[in-house]
Amino acid sequence: MFFREVIGQRAQVEELRRGLRSGRLPHALLLCGKAGVGKRLVADALAAAKLCDAAGDEACGACPSCRAFQHGVHPDCEVVTREAGRRDIGIGQVRALLETLHRKAERARGRAVILDEAERLTVEAQNALLKTLEEPPPGALLVLVTAVADRLLPTVRSRCALHRFGPLADAEMEEYRTRAGDVPAGFPLALAAGSPGRLRRLADEGLLRARTRLLDFLAAPGQTSPFDLAAELIACAASGAAAQQDEDDDQRERLRDRLLLVLRLLALLLRDLSIVSLRVEGASLVNCDLSERLLEAGGRVAPDRVDASSEACEQALLDLRRNMDPALALEEAAARIGGLLAGG
Ligand SMILES: [Zn+2]
Repeated sequence: MFFREVIGQRAQVEELRRGLRSGRLPHALLLCGKAGVGKRLVADALAAAKLCDAAGDEACGACPSCRAFQHGVHPDCEVVTREAGRRDIGIGQVRALLETLHRKAERARGRAVILDEAERLTVEAQNALLKTLEEPPPGALLVLVTAVADRLLPTVRSRCALHRFGPLADAEMEEYRTRAGDVPAGFPLALAAGSPGRLRRLADEGLLRARTRLLDFLAAPGQTSPFDLAAELIACAASGAAAQQDEDDDQRERLRDRLLLVLRLLALLLRDLSIVSLRVEGASLVNCDLSERLLEAGGRVAPDRVDASSEACEQALLDLRRNMDPALALEEAAARIGGLLAGG
């Protein structure tokens, strides 16, 4: 909840801190960017700094306001996100929020509201927000956080100061790995495409196992039936999903998300295999920790068969997004790729 804890996003953080220092921070902000790049962390740090008794550009961490914030019980900070078991943020939640927002703040520094996953606001809920976004009560700060700004009404977007969050640089991802301490040392950071949140999700045991299993399959495609492979991958995805599961999560949706990640791992392995089979000089592998096994496997297959396998993988991604039964989508992809790579 401190700006100094945020890795990367320097320009965005500096602009917000400048706003706090000058007293010219816009009263409605929209933080957008890919999932897991630090938007919510920055929103928290901003709210904490705004409400801190020290009234500077960073929360002091010691005043009663900061202590309340740290315990998640600040009376003047509201975080709105979707309720347990719901897919969206409805008008009821927004009305309750507006009511709170128009009451006098408990402490001296006004109120802060964070609307997380703002893309989940229903159209009705967004419309209910418009007036307040345009003219919030004195001292109020509204921060909308979203990975898909396009899903917000243009009228909502235009009332907020937009802050775009890009992916983190490689060195910043390394810094994140060092600080987090729980990402396996060999795990290739490139898989996370500059998103610490994504790295966290990818680097759990279940997905690491799935990646190894996929490489086994690509290296010796004739040895596993598509049916068995699909079942094993689903088991890998489900194990991690259970460990990470929040109580309000829709389990099937979570499993589908995890299987999309498994297929992305497959797509990246095939990308590496393509580079190896084409003998591209100087190209770096995403799965650099597995380079020896990839070289071995890639030496045996024709590049066009790897490309066709990538297409089969893309098709499975599409099928899964279109709600095809996950086992079926994986089996079909495994059967096609197995046939292609085994030379059938
Ligand atoms: Zn403080």
